[in-house]
Amino acid sequence: KVRVRFAPSPTGPLHIGGVRTALFNYLFAKRHQGTFILRIEDTDQNRYVEGAEKYIVEALNWLNFPFDEGPEIGGNYGPYRQSERKDIYKKYIDQLITSGNAYYAFDTAEKLDFHRKEHESKGKTFIYNWHNRLKLDNSLSLDADEVEKRIKSGEKYVIRFKSPKNETLVLKDMIRGEIKIDTNILDDKVLFKSDGMPTYHLANIVDDHLMEISHVIRGEEWLPSMALHVLLYKAFGWEAPEFAHLPLILKPEGKGKLSKRDGDKLGFPVFPLEWKNNGEVSRGYREDGYFPEAVVNMLALLGWNEGEGSEKEIYSLEELIKVFSLKHVSKSGAKFDPKKTVWFNHQYLQQKSDDELAQLFSNYILAMKTNPVLSESLDKTSEHLEDKTFIKKVISLIKERANFVSDLLHLGNYFFIAPTSYDKKSTKQWKEGTPQLMYTVISLLKPIEDFSSSTVEAIVKEWITSNNIGFGKVMQPLRLSLVGAMQGPHLFDIMELIGKEETIKRIERAIT
Ligand code: GLU
Repeated sequence: KVRVRFAPSPTGPLHIGGVRTALFNYLFAKRHQGTFILRIEDTDQNRYVEGAEKYIVEALNWLNFPFDEGPEIGGNYGPYRQSERKDIYKKYIDQLITSGNAYYAFDTAEKLDFHRKEHESKGKTFIYNWHNRLKLDNSLSLDADEVEKRIKSGEKYVIRFKSPKNETLVLKDMIRGEIKIDTNILDDKVLFKSDGMPTYHLANIVDDHLMEISHVIRGEEWLPSMALHVLLYKAFGWEAPEFAHLPLILKPEGKGKLSKRDGDKLGFPVFPLEWKNNGEVSRGYREDGYFPEAVVNMLALLGWNEGEGSEKEIYSLEELIKVFSLKHVSKSGAKFDPKKTVWFNHQYLQQKSDDELAQLFSNYILAMKTNPVLSESLDKTSEHLEDKTFIKKVISLIKERANFVSDLLHLGNYFFIAPTSYDKKSTKQWKEGTPQLMYTVISLLKPIEDFSSSTVEAIVKEWITSNNIGFGKVMQPLRLSLVGAMQGPHLFDIMELIGKEETIKRIERAIT
């Protein structure tokens, strides 16, 4: 039975690397009719950040891949916050001490530092394992009475894992294959601290075992911990889950790990949701107007593809569930491309119906109205902003060029408000004879009763051809008058939509 977990530490907002890990876990679970679990790894109180857990849950919900078991919603394997499982870890660390797989160590930070420096000065690395254990201050170098006395007197200690001497471990990773590790290079990692809290390593293994996790799917940065984790399973006499370490997400230029700073520098978000902390704002995909489907699609292709030669790029979550496989996750880092995310958003916007887009557009306007800075620019716009039918028509005319819902307003602002300035009016399109021509156009438009795009087009074009005027001479200044710039969809469609009265008003204003 497949049971996988996403196990973030609540130390801040979730970076898209973390979201991708969550997504791959979710896809793997659903692909195999399994269970997707959220576990909050909050044993390190120093790094705990208020609001981070809420952020994680909200992000997963926004992206539409909610977890089946986790904090608040519960499940049969709870609690799902490690800070609520303290008593459990105590029992298991005692078990490791009894079995001789872990030991107390009293070394002060200064002492460890001293040894580290001494090694370095000889060009060696200090490893806290059998190489040095007996020279150091721990229960393997002291007699039992002394150890007990020191613990009782309240001396600070940690409990370390006793890593084996002269063994070769063969680790199996579903993505990387076999990895051989010489145990002589492993440190005796700290498993438990005297404040009664386990470290990540112990809590993670105990919980994965108790929660019956079948596959551990996580970021490559945890690959170096895998040897210790496998040794811990052995020490407990438990069967280890399968492991899969996902490739790093790289900067757009391809070198180094993508960071928050890259986002700030290049002007794109690296977080799913906006995060505010001490006056500092980190941008989020949601607030920047991305669709969750576009973000999911973009993330799915960061280090995964459907198979060799596959050129398909657009995947819904349902499709991904059907075809996702860890076999097609790459070993090498995945380059992050912010422009590609915009492209995905464009694709998903085109897929939406005009009805749906009209609703999203109205929501957008509503949100702008409640924003004191943005609402100012809205005050000048027309009553059409509230008119769903009108908005739907605007959308059908301009959505092809829009990447975001907000673009519908920026690209189509002339549908709502008459232009007040004109691009290069006097030079190229607006010539000496233009005003006279425009007056004639007005007189042509005035009597038209059925002001539909095709009727107006037929009448205007007929007049142009029969008088041998030249299309550019009329159409260009006309566009300038109505739109304010040389852009936008079919001009007669614009006329139909804004109506006869407004069309004539705009031409008159352009003339004067
Ligand atoms: N708490 C770890 C993290 O923040 C979990 C690593 C793992 O999945 O084992 O990424």
